[in-house]
Amino acid sequence: MLKTSGLVDLTELKMYVNGEWKAAQNGETFSVINPSTGKVVAKVPNGGRQETQQAIAAAEQAFKSWSKLTAMERAKYLLKLHELMHEYKHELAEIMSLEMGKPFTEAEGEVDFAASYLQWFAEEGRRIYGETIPASAANKRLMVIRQPIGVVAAITPWNFPLAMMTRKVGPAMVAGCTSIVKPAKQSPISAIAFGKLVEMAGVPAGVVSIVTGNAGPISDEIFENPIVRKISFTGSTEVGKMLVTKSAHQLKRLSLELGGHAPFIVFEDADLEEAAAGAVASKFRNTGQTCVCANRIYVHRSVIEKFSEIFVEKVQSLKVGNSIDPSVQVGPLVSKDGLEKVEEHVHDALSKGARLLCGGQRVSGELADGLFYEPTVLAGVNTDMLITSEETFGPVAPIIPFDTEEEVIEHANSTEYGLAAYFYTQNISRAVRVSEALEFGIIGMNDAIPTVAQAPFGGMKESGVGREGGHQGLDEYLEEKYISMGF
Ligand code: NAP
Repeated sequence: MLKTSGLVDLTELKMYVNGEWKAAQNGETFSVINPSTGKVVAKVPNGGRQETQQAIAAAEQAFKSWSKLTAMERAKYLLKLHELMHEYKHELAEIMSLEMGKPFTEAEGEVDFAASYLQWFAEEGRRIYGETIPASAANKRLMVIRQPIGVVAAITPWNFPLAMMTRKVGPAMVAGCTSIVKPAKQSPISAIAFGKLVEMAGVPAGVVSIVTGNAGPISDEIFENPIVRKISFTGSTEVGKMLVTKSAHQLKRLSLELGGHAPFIVFEDADLEEAAAGAVASKFRNTGQTCVCANRIYVHRSVIEKFSEIFVEKVQSLKVGNSIDPSVQVGPLVSKDGLEKVEEHVHDALSKGARLLCGGQRVSGELADGLFYEPTVLAGVNTDMLITSEETFGPVAPIIPFDTEEEVIEHANSTEYGLAAYFYTQNISRAVRVSEALEFGIIGMNDAIPTVAQAPFGGMKESGVGREGGHQGLDEYLEEKYISMGF
């Protein structure tokens, strides 16, 4: 039985706009389907342009007083939200797991991770420093101050429903901005639950509004309404590129956290046990549906057999099942399209000569109503196969042999993406060389899970523009103003 009634009533979900709970004006809703069972979790308001316009108008109004508070005053609200997220961790994890299929224990981890951004930015708000510059004349003083950019919009994906929201809304709030959040259609309930916490924390009306519904009309309003000065988007590179075009008309500031195709390199001097454990953590987290998932596992030819043996044993021990079960490690794919893409990648690889080391098909039996695919390992993979260039976004690990450091770096970099890359070695000279040669925004050296709130997260090349987290994540919500004072 659900225990979420203490946080949101799943039978009557509403949007949070200007501090009020609202149905869509046209009365429409859309269904959120549990990918573990195929059953409807809840119906959610199908908002559109009008609701977005109201949220933007409320944000403009709220900005007048919110931006005048000190960062320390604003931080108190973030810290309260941080505390509430921990208090309602179970409920939030349950919602996430039901609506998008994240394994429950992992979903609890995401709640902690999401809350950590609120704490980090609450503390970082104290350090929105300006600058003084030596003047060229004795009767002048030059300084730079940093001010909130204004009303911002956050468009978030389904794969990290809470964390992608807090790492946008957190810095926006502490910087003095007000926000409108448009969550993905597959994970709107987490956003509504966050709205509930915003209300409980006593955040003034209009500082954060949540609008659920179709991306088209909501984003049209966001991009065409001149009140919105900045948009932070996390999602696919395809949509990100469309948003660049849309933002040109009003030159809106844009941060983009997009797709990835992470190489995971195991050198001959690596600790193979650690490397295999890291590869499992990186590849199968969120059932392989993360932008920083290992997509291509390159292993030095001299250790490939040993590594594959250890890796396959670990993959075969992963527990697959209904995501709400706390002992489950691999849940369902989020959608039928997602499942079909996984099947296509495996089929394509096998038809071009790859070999199955384990897995390779949908899960049948008791789980047949859900969107489950067996944790899969492919050997003998080469660059002709789709899996080495497109994001698989599923529980499939391709293993590719290599012979030299130069060769593997060239292969690792041969992608339009540049988000995360991983490598395992015990050689310090190699560690420096390879870290500097990889063309990716995030490098995990002997570390499969490098993302933390205090470090900058973001991509090079077609993986995005801007950074989230770290002190850099706050810069994205601030304008620099230069003031020359004569006297
Ligand atoms: P997506 O289809 O691009 O959707 C992301 C968000 O954009 C959703 O809220 C979606 O709303 C919205 N959207 C869709 N079409 C839009 C449009 N034409 N205009 C404005 N907004 C639009 O991506 P996804 O499939 O949900 O997420 C997976 C992708 O996100 C992967 O490529 C993954 O690598 C990437 N990702 C990147 C990061 C990062 O930090 N770099 C983190 C997580 C995920 P609807 O749901 O209503 O369509």
